[in-house]
Amino acid sequence: MKEFAWHGCTVRITKKKVRNTNLRIRPEEPQTIHVSIPFSMTYEEARQLLEEPKVVRWAERYRKKLRDAPKRPNLSNEERAGQAAQYRERLQEMLPELFRKWEEILGVRCGKVTIRDTRSQWGSCSIRTKNISISVWLGAFSKDCVEYVVVHELVHLLETGHNARFYGILDQHYPNWRSCREQLRRGSA
Ligand SMILES: [Zn+2]
Repeated sequence: MKEFAWHGCTVRITKKKVRNTNLRIRPEEPQTIHVSIPFSMTYEEARQLLEEPKVVRWAERYRKKLRDAPKRPNLSNEERAGQAAQYRERLQEMLPELFRKWEEILGVRCGKVTIRDTRSQWGSCSIRTKNISISVWLGAFSKDCVEYVVVHELVHLLETGHNARFYGILDQHYPNWRSCREQLRRGSA
């Protein structure tokens, strides 16, 4: 096994009985890239492989995605289910009023709002159906953070991309959004 620093994170290369090189990042350890290589490959060859722009881009994209994704609480299945139920209840209480308020301010109308046990994002918005989905794990955060996600998803009905116009609308209506995004990234409620 060999470990070295690479583009701001750690790469751990292990020789294994594998046919192809595998790269993996575990959500609970986003700073480490685990690489399995076949016994026939040298560590130096693996290192060179990692310098391919394609691989560098993959790692950057992946780590960015992990940084923005809901953190998985370290709980038993039962505890998790209990917590999810609690968060869901809290969100069900908060969301209708927040959606009403922001639909009016932004002059938009969304479709169905669902609360999902999603790991990949805090919220999502289907431009076609205008349906919005909110991660149940958002329920762990302050009302400000919940409100930010509501505003963020509703702004997508005005501007689909995360571009200057999108952030301009957020700045105008919810100037606190950066601090909320930070809290969500850090995973602290
Ligand atoms: Zn978005």
